[in-house]
Amino acid sequence: MADQMEKIVALAKRRGFIYPGSELYGGLANTYDYGPVGTELLRNIKNLWWDTFVHRRTDIVGLDASLISHQKVWEASGHTSGFSDALLDCKSCKRRIRADHLIEDFLENHAEELRSTSFVPVKISADELKNAFVTKKVEGWTEEKMEEIIALLQIKCPSCGKLDWTGVRKFNLLFPVHLGIVEGDQDLAYLRGETAQGMFVNFENISNSTRVRLPFGVAQLGKSFRNEVTLGNSVFRTIEFEQGEIEYFFDPENEDWEKLFEGWKESMWQFIIKGLGIREENLRWRLHGDEERSFYSKRTEDMEYNFPFGFKELWGLAYRTDYDLKQHIKHSGKELYIVDPKTNKKVTPHVIEPAVGINRLFLMVLADAYHEEGERVVLRIDPKIAPYKIAIFPLLANKEQLVGKAKELFETLRAEFTCTFDDRGNIGKRYLYQDEIGTPWCVTVDFDSLEDHAVTVRDRDTTEQVRVPMAELSSYFTKKLRK
Ligand code: ATP
Repeated sequence: MADQMEKIVALAKRRGFIYPGSELYGGLANTYDYGPVGTELLRNIKNLWWDTFVHRRTDIVGLDASLISHQKVWEASGHTSGFSDALLDCKSCKRRIRADHLIEDFLENHAEELRSTSFVPVKISADELKNAFVTKKVEGWTEEKMEEIIALLQIKCPSCGKLDWTGVRKFNLLFPVHLGIVEGDQDLAYLRGETAQGMFVNFENISNSTRVRLPFGVAQLGKSFRNEVTLGNSVFRTIEFEQGEIEYFFDPENEDWEKLFEGWKESMWQFIIKGLGIREENLRWRLHGDEERSFYSKRTEDMEYNFPFGFKELWGLAYRTDYDLKQHIKHSGKELYIVDPKTNKKVTPHVIEPAVGINRLFLMVLADAYHEEGERVVLRIDPKIAPYKIAIFPLLANKEQLVGKAKELFETLRAEFTCTFDDRGNIGKRYLYQDEIGTPWCVTVDFDSLEDHAVTVRDRDTTEQVRVPMAELSSYFTKKLRK
């Protein structure tokens, strides 16, 4: 499966989906640039998300908050003190790695051996150890517990194979920014580590300036920044990434949170399988146990996708109670509430938060769509989100009449669909290229087209070719896209 990932990464670069960041200067770890084809795909995913969760709902409004925010926002949210990863360094090869990832990878890959081992740890309880062996998770463990299990299991450096670690230390993930130009007189602010705080900080503004009534959601799509050290797996984990988050505010006295939670699970699941066209067997839910869940959350579940490197978190769903708004009330000294128009009661609502990484959705779409059929590599991306819907070709590049007609058709169709034009190489090569970027349909203008005003439409998935009158192409594709 690691091999599968290498192929996807190679295709992504070869065909202009994603490039390593700052590659010209040797690269910058954990950053990526989206190429011409990738940019289209990313936008389509974002637009579908926004359309589904904002435009098509009457109970959710949008927000686009600043990327840089006041340090107090992050003090109140708990990020300046608690938003950190436990890291350790290999003294031999200097590799820095997340302790939880090192341990979890080991547990995942040594399940058999672990069955016959018996330890007597001092800092880890017998239940904790058993649980870690079963779930292969150590989220929420202290640095001391992680150090102990690394020593007990003799977990070696995955890069150099030595067992020569430093202790486990916590590193904050927030990026500080220093505002102002005079040194020593600068104000400390932070690049946001999540989009969610924008919704809480603007809660009062939104309730005062719009017609929202509980229950309602505020959605945001935008960049977040985290000083991550984990390398590999392409855009799965990067230091700059796009989040799609919704804070769904409700009055717990009027709503059954469990019902709302289940409703969100269903909406998220449908978005992935129907919206993005992902195979359902590659998805699952994972409930957070008490250790892993934040202390203020009553329930957290992760939707996980079966990436080529295993089932990993795609989309988190958490019932965060009124913790965030209460924290901002405490730190700002302001009251944050909305008035229930029926009872005139002031309500500081509770919140359910679905939070997804758009770049993880992007990687999932590539992984799920990737198919090899003999010589042919084809990305079976759902046509709704495919970078280009239609590719238009003249049969021969050196026949003016064919090129003229194909260009005319391209101009007509691109008014309605995202199209691309290609006249390089032969038709077979053009098909292979379009298959690799996931274009669902190729349209060829040939000599007959000049007479019968029809063209050959070739389907990406079946490779079947049909003849369609040019005048009917628009309705032909509209119908196909509605499916
Ligand atoms: P992880 O455990 O993978 O670090 P998280 O639990 O810290 O993720 P959240 O803070 O809940 O993640 O963020 C919500 C979503 O944002 C995640 O489900 C994931 O899809 C995405 N995400 C988080 N960190 C990154 C990152 N560094 N790069 C890309 N996407 C990310």
